[in-house]
Amino acid sequence: MDTHARMNVIPAITIDGPAGSGKSTLGERLARALGWLYFDTGVMYRALTLAAIGHAVALDDPAALERLAEALVIDVSPPQVGDGRQYTVCVDGVDVTWSLRRSDVEQQISHVAAHPGVRRVMRARQRQIGLRGHVVLVGRDIGSVVLPDAALKIYLVASIDERARRRMQERSARGQPAELAAIRADIARRDELDRHVMQPAHDAVQLSSEGRSPDELVDQVMRLFGRPTSSAVSS
Ligand code: C5P
Repeated sequence: MDTHARMNVIPAITIDGPAGSGKSTLGERLARALGWLYFDTGVMYRALTLAAIGHAVALDDPAALERLAEALVIDVSPPQVGDGRQYTVCVDGVDVTWSLRRSDVEQQISHVAAHPGVRRVMRARQRQIGLRGHVVLVGRDIGSVVLPDAALKIYLVASIDERARRRMQERSARGQPAELAAIRADIARRDELDRHVMQPAHDAVQLSSEGRSPDELVDQVMRLFGRPTSSAVSS
């Protein structure tokens, strides 16, 4: 018997997929269209990695990382500064929103996120947020592990070249120097390291963001969710 059929359905949408596939753009827009909360779970692993670097916790010490994960107070709130951010992230009261995107964090994050104890702590917190409902959760394993009882599960993909181009544009827009080949190599490295945590739910709808505008994708997901937007109704 399908175990999911027996579960209560949570009014939530999950979006999983690899780095740069467009999950956060789609997630934020969907949440806005529905009047729901947008929650990017990658932020939690980023915050832990940043804190581990800051507190000189060894990144290959699972017990120390798990303790840090349990102790860390991560607060995600609507953006308080108009500098292009999607949200404000405070860790232990300090605004770390942009520090989470630092290259040393991106270099180390997949190693930190790989520890089962760390994932257990993070997934439990993410599920708490999901269970409140009316939330769009974005990540790698949300539809399959964290919130399999969500009403709609999306798995978003795009080619590595398209994903690298997008990351390059994002960095340029923030005034950060970026080189396409280096970004592409970093994405390929993270795809490989994240392979074991990337678990599409068996009943996720797979969509490609390749060559498609955010508006087109939002319309398609809203239609799948049974809440077509006005532009989707007329198309
Ligand atoms: O989505 P984002 O690029 O911010 O994720 C950063 C990293 O955090 C991923 O490369 C992955 O290692 C980890 N992550 C994870 N599970 C999630 C979200 C992110 O392991 N649900």
